[in-house]
Amino acid sequence: MITPGAEQLLNVWEQGLNQPLLQRALMLLAVACPDCSPDTLATLSIGERDSRLLQLRARLFGQQLSNTAVCPQCNERLEWQSCIADLLVDTDRADCKAGGFELQTEGYQLRFRLPNSLDVAAAANAGGAEDAVQQLLLRCVIEIEQDGVNCANAPLPEGVVQALAERMEALDPQADIRTDLTCPECAHHWCALFDIASFLWAEVNGWAERMLHMVCRLAAAYGWSERDILNLSPVRRQLYLGMVAR
Ligand SMILES: [Zn+2]
Repeated sequence: MITPGAEQLLNVWEQGLNQPLLQRALMLLAVACPDCSPDTLATLSIGERDSRLLQLRARLFGQQLSNTAVCPQCNERLEWQSCIADLLVDTDRADCKAGGFELQTEGYQLRFRLPNSLDVAAAANAGGAEDAVQQLLLRCVIEIEQDGVNCANAPLPEGVVQALAERMEALDPQADIRTDLTCPECAHHWCALFDIASFLWAEVNGWAERMLHMVCRLAAAYGWSERDILNLSPVRRQLYLGMVAR
């Protein structure tokens, strides 16, 4: 992984503006992982993708992060702090490459892989939430037999859906980042979901707007081109901006 420069990041931000979030996340990873093809990145498990997004976030904006959440009990808005290292799960994904995972439940034998960004995108187009889950899981089933008979095209029974979803979650814990929160108003305690893709994109968006503002002021003051200004180190940009303000 590399740390994208200001010009690269600004280009990704601009190209991602009219893209869905899933695509934005993959575009950020593409610029940070130049050795990986777009196909490779799109077929990373969600946990592996999010692990890389967390690492990219640390490179771009540091380890510490602060986020807000709304208490589901009393609607109080609260701010919480965390550290990227604490959100990263250390998992051994060695067996992912060995042709998938196996599950035996309720007379069914399944071989499956973990969901990736393409699966999530396809499931997002399904009718309701239940259909989306079925579709997501079905896409990930490589082989399925009931009492030794292939039944690939039949819908999955509820018990199998449940068992498969639980197994996938256990195999790819990074795909579900949660943080323990306690409301300061009503003391309600809950586990909030943290979506690194939308969080990081919001940060990149804020950074890009500040950067364009800075470019505008420096270009007006010194007559430098956008490229020259973006190629300056952050420290120099800030110092020159300080001189303009005086
Ligand atoms: Zn509360």
